[in-house]
Amino acid sequence: MGALIISLDFELNWGVHDVYTIEEYGANILGARLAIPQILQLFLKYDIHATWAIVGMLYCKDKQELLSYLNTIDIPYDNTAFNPVQNFSKVGDNETLDPYHFGNSLISMIRETPNQEIGTHTFTHYYCLETGQSIEHFEKDLEAVSSLGDKVTSLVFPRNQVNPDYLLVCKELGLEAYRGNEKSWVYRSYTSKTNTRLKRLCRLVDAYINITGHHTYSLKDIETVPIANIPSSRFLRPYNKRWNILEQLRLRRIKNGLTKAAKKNELYHLWWHPHNFGKNTKENLEFLEEILKHINYLTKKYNFQSMHMRDVTEVLKIIT
Ligand SMILES: [Zn+2]
Repeated sequence: MGALIISLDFELNWGVHDVYTIEEYGANILGARLAIPQILQLFLKYDIHATWAIVGMLYCKDKQELLSYLNTIDIPYDNTAFNPVQNFSKVGDNETLDPYHFGNSLISMIRETPNQEIGTHTFTHYYCLETGQSIEHFEKDLEAVSSLGDKVTSLVFPRNQVNPDYLLVCKELGLEAYRGNEKSWVYRSYTSKTNTRLKRLCRLVDAYINITGHHTYSLKDIETVPIANIPSSRFLRPYNKRWNILEQLRLRRIKNGLTKAAKKNELYHLWWHPHNFGKNTKENLEFLEEILKHINYLTKKYNFQSMHMRDVTEVLKIIT
């Protein structure tokens, strides 16, 4: 059985608070809020299953609740900018007053859309490979996730910082799957020190021209211990106006990977952030729809499926 797996890292400003100011990136965050209902509409139209890996802080109803959580999870990163508390002076009182840091209304919208899985992107957008933090801080973070009310079984590590030593704790707290990285050195180790300019350049080129392969895989090759690794095949980069001419190459690269997966009964895992659609939203949605039309075609021709991460976990339970 072949399938497209989709996962989205839903974080609003919590994914970038240490990288950009609101002045620099705020428009993308507000744009993400407008893009999410439209992405859900497309998923509904094409019968798409997707995992929404949500930053736990977005669930908080107000600043007071957020602060009470953060008081219990103080993470001593060497680089203090990673700690969300550092950003606290910029956080408003609630979602109405501060659409950058709260997201309850959007979480409800996702929950109410059929075939959408609520997963986690940790509570604090936690960096599992950065120095200063350790497993006990991570455990506290995941305990906060457990208290939010949604039963989550799928995890996406923030900045794709997969820490194999933390997987047992994930299992103990009820998680059953995570999104691993592509098997190529350019997609390995995303810490602030090891994510070099060369790797970033290679990843950029690889979005248009096949230099590292399609990263498709079969169900039987999925590692299941201690929890299932459902690796990424491709990051869906945002539309680039300057390189409009290359957009067809980017689309062809993804379609070729999907066709290969469908023909060989393999899985293809595509992921992005809603804020990647926050600018040039129309072009990004059109691009996504081209992919979904191709899925439609592959479904008819090869019985290709659409799955979220929990669907995969459930199938793995049956076959292993
Ligand atoms: Zn993230």
